[in-house]
Amino acid sequence: MLCLSLLTLLLAGHTPVMGLPLRASDLPTQPHAGPSEADQKFAEEYLWRFYGYQPKLARQKRTADTDEDADWKTGLCDKLQSMQRFFGLHPSGELDKETLAVMKRPRCGLSDVERFGDTIRWKKRTLSYRITGSNLPSSASKVHKVFREAWKLWSSVAPMKFRKRSRKEADIVICFHKGDHEDGIPFDGKGGILAHAFLPGLGIGGDVHFDADEDWSFNSTGFNLLAVAAHEFGHALGLPHSSDPGAVMYPSYNFAPNYELQLSFRDVKDVQNLYGISPNFASLFSKKPPPRTPDKCDPDLSFDAVTELQQEVLFFKDRFMWRKHPQFDETAITLISSLWPDSVPPFLDAVYENVDGNVIVFFKGHQYWILKQLKLQEGSPRNISHLGFPSRIKSIDAALHFRIERSTVFFTGHECWRYNEKERMMEGSPVLIEQMWPGIPTPIDAAVFYEGSYITFLLWRFVHFFKGNIHYKYDSNSKHVISTSPVNDLLECEKHNNEILTEWR
Ligand SMILES: [Zn+2]
Ligand SMILES: [Zn+2]
Repeated sequence: MLCLSLLTLLLAGHTPVMGLPLRASDLPTQPHAGPSEADQKFAEEYLWRFYGYQPKLARQKRTADTDEDADWKTGLCDKLQSMQRFFGLHPSGELDKETLAVMKRPRCGLSDVERFGDTIRWKKRTLSYRITGSNLPSSASKVHKVFREAWKLWSSVAPMKFRKRSRKEADIVICFHKGDHEDGIPFDGKGGILAHAFLPGLGIGGDVHFDADEDWSFNSTGFNLLAVAAHEFGHALGLPHSSDPGAVMYPSYNFAPNYELQLSFRDVKDVQNLYGISPNFASLFSKKPPPRTPDKCDPDLSFDAVTELQQEVLFFKDRFMWRKHPQFDETAITLISSLWPDSVPPFLDAVYENVDGNVIVFFKGHQYWILKQLKLQEGSPRNISHLGFPSRIKSIDAALHFRIERSTVFFTGHECWRYNEKERMMEGSPVLIEQMWPGIPTPIDAAVFYEGSYITFLLWRFVHFFKGNIHYKYDSNSKHVISTSPVNDLLECEKHNNEILTEWR
């Protein structure tokens, strides 16, 4: 995997811009250690299975072609970049730790790049299904109940009916299999691939297979059967994978215990494109429409929290975040749980990175969570009273960390509090925000101390405040707002900027 190791070496040998203070956390822990041979092999197989990489062709090309960028010519790096784009990672073409971690997440066995088109769908609107085999993870009635619920998700938005059959032939056969089960796609034991399904059609078409070796559950332990069934039933109806991280048709297992399982706006649109709209759809969803994944070009976009994380700036919204990296133009959306599985709640209030402690701190309601190198610290979550807040403070709006001063300013309503990170205590009494930061509307949504470029790191840094859809760039020396702009400007939403310009003209 030459392109991968070559890039790693290039990055490791890269000289930082003259005299700029690269932090310890920016440096790779093992500068020359590329991915292990086993990981490279695993990645090649992953790209073959899910992104159409052809290792056979690559081998022929590699023997004929001995130059260093052979992996680029064989398409391996292209496929890796496709995978990185699909999952909202930076499309570096480098098999870094994070890309590997995403590849190793439990997922569905179908490809991410196959597009089935509109033609592969059932002609009839009432489909029969049958549950066969002996490897059921629980009592038949419990499993049936879950499957009924999963079908209902789809039948409530598209004009489809699903009928269970006990004996006779059925359109869709559902079973639990271990390892090789004679359809050419063997299961892989615990973890990895959880299930797969076949597109609508005769015979095996529409059938759904679950890996019987998984620890299936009806709650948040192991793998939630309802979440995986809802996804696989989508395939049985003809839907491909979606790169929308909020969609049920996203290929990775992303069941969140504290989030109700429902079809997203994307899933609903996709299935309605194939089958039309259920007659009950309007009445069922009038009060609570299917959730839309936040759109960085939405003119009303606001953020829950914003923080620096090493070289990146992270913008949090609901279950999602955008990651802005100085080396990449694309700012892709991803699930918060893709970086911190199971440990960080959605709909956060505030987040900050404390570089000295090498930790990142998340706030929601009266609790806070401390993570070190992506791992939850013992004792988390704690009550914010541990930081020195009086009991009248029920939550915080934003946190602003000052690296050099080793202090953090917390914003609550119209007040702000300074916390000494060195002494681990609150300094004095709260101050009114209008005194400390005149010109900033209160209460605020989010704040970050960030310039965005190491070139200007030593010269000037600004505080950025967010309220509603407005971003305030603030000079804390002269204590005034330098500029305001729509929050989307930070996520490179050109479409939005153009619209705004036209509006203003
Ligand atoms: Zn799938
Ligand atoms: Zn199978």
